[in-house]
Amino acid sequence: MTARAPALFVGHGSPMNAIEDTPSARGWAEIAQRFAKPRAIVAISAHWVTDGVRVMSNAQPKTIHDFGRGFPQALFDVRYPAPGDPALAREIVEKLSAFGARLDDSWGLDHGAWSVLRRMYPEADAPVVQVSLDARRPPQEHYEIARALGPLRDDGVLILAAGNIVHNLAAFFRTKQLEPWVERFDRFVADAAASGDDGAVLRYGAHPDAREAAPDWEHFFPVFYALGARRDGESAYLFNQHYEPGLSMTAFAYGLAQ
Ligand code: ZN
Repeated sequence: MTARAPALFVGHGSPMNAIEDTPSARGWAEIAQRFAKPRAIVAISAHWVTDGVRVMSNAQPKTIHDFGRGFPQALFDVRYPAPGDPALAREIVEKLSAFGARLDDSWGLDHGAWSVLRRMYPEADAPVVQVSLDARRPPQEHYEIARALGPLRDDGVLILAAGNIVHNLAAFFRTKQLEPWVERFDRFVADAAASGDDGAVLRYGAHPDAREAAPDWEHFFPVFYALGARRDGESAYLFNQHYEPGLSMTAFAYGLAQ
């Protein structure tokens, strides 16, 4: 019998978390010890935005270094050699046929996925399939895509959504101050996720801090993939509630054994 795998949202932050010993990176390593290694991982990252829903079909996905040149060579040298899972990719395309999903071999693993996965599973032995964020869709449809992916968890497939609840790079570089809206907006979302108030999260744009805290939709929308993949009766386990100017690293998991 296969154990149901969790659904996880993680704030991924700087790609340096992949190689630096940070509290967030330690949190990712620790959470992976709390449940059985999944048979595969479906990763949704803020860094794969497409026109239409795309499902990575590569058997041997490349490691994509999708960040600026200012980072050290050691980060560009990182390879995360996890295999893909073309059969699972085909299964996902079928599950998401109502959304017009298509196989895509042009991608690989971007840093939103591998910076976290390298900490969770340094052996890179669990296959990974990325599903893109379709830029044309409103929050509700992303949530429905996640609901269609949720049953994969019963087959031992981990849903890993990587973005950031608060992600304002201008504020990150502008100020050394931790402004109050960072924690305020993060807690609003985390509390709603913990209490199962998905509607409040889907309407996040109405929150007075949303424009400042979540100016770019693609880092926020991965939240919907964890919410939508939650199963009845599951409660959120919150971790990595670390704050920086313009950034929250908060993560939550559904389906951990209590
Ligand atoms: Zn990012």
